[in-house]
Amino acid sequence: MEILQTAGKHQILAIMVGLDGETPIELIELAGRTAYQSQDKISEGSAKKFVAMLRDRGHESVIEHSAMTVGFSDVSRGLTHEYVRHRLMSPTEESTRYVDESNLRVVCPPDKDPDDRIARIVLPDGHEINVSFAQWVGLNEQMYRSLRQAEWVPEDARQILPIGIVAQIVVTCNFREWRHIFELRCSKRAHWEIRSVMVSLLADVQSRVPVVFDDFKIDGSVPYAAKTS
Ligand SMILES: Cc1cc2nc3c(=O)[nH]c(=O)nc-3n(C[C@H](O)[C@H](O)[C@H](O)COP(=O)(O)OP(=O)(O)OC[C@H]3O[C@@H](n4cnc5c(N)ncnc54)[C@H](O)[C@@H]3O)c2cc1C
Repeated sequence: MEILQTAGKHQILAIMVGLDGETPIELIELAGRTAYQSQDKISEGSAKKFVAMLRDRGHESVIEHSAMTVGFSDVSRGLTHEYVRHRLMSPTEESTRYVDESNLRVVCPPDKDPDDRIARIVLPDGHEINVSFAQWVGLNEQMYRSLRQAEWVPEDARQILPIGIVAQIVVTCNFREWRHIFELRCSKRAHWEIRSVMVSLLADVQSRVPVVFDDFKIDGSVPYAAKTS
């Protein structure tokens, strides 16, 4: 059993570029200039201005011409469920049907003490005990292992797993959808775990891809991000 008090990690696996060496924003410019057949205006530095113009005028369909694949590790299943609500994103998620979870790993909010025996549990025989978050996870692990020993396959034993169980997910979508996801999931209203992971990804992608995500400003001691225009 392991209690994780972090919000997981991201790893950018791929960012779509052109076959002739175009950067993501040069690729977007190349595709975008098809509309007015203005490819002759492509020059050193023109992609930045062109993509900023698209972004600021809300011509975001053109930004769809580049995409990014990101792996998220050691996040909770609750977080991955939030990702898979985004219908324009392609996810591949760790399976609780096929992966054995006998070594239970669970994400606990970093501002909570997992050893605080805060919960009063009434046992079937009427006895009352005080149980901590960590102890509850331990009991959950014992229950899962017992079911597995009783020859329950993982896809059946998983029914008793908590939503905080650690999961891995890889997601791919175009930059327009990433912008939408950053807007929703970096917001102050988002859950702390997904907000923390997404703000960290936003900072990373802002350092790798100019212009496209620059209108998001990361702020605050508990970082969040919002569009500035
Ligand atoms: C703070 C927060 C709290 C939430 N709380 C809840 C909750 O309590 N319960 C709950 O069920 N969900 C909740 N959600 C999830 C939320 O309802 C959305 O399912 C999720 O954020 C995906 O948003 P989306 O549909 O805009 O994005 P995506 O699915 O990523 O789609 C992107 C955009 O494409 C367009 N689009 C996609 N599919 C269609 C379609 N079929 N028809 C028309 N346009 C489409 C829309 O413009 C959409 O905004 C919450 C989300 C947030 C951020």
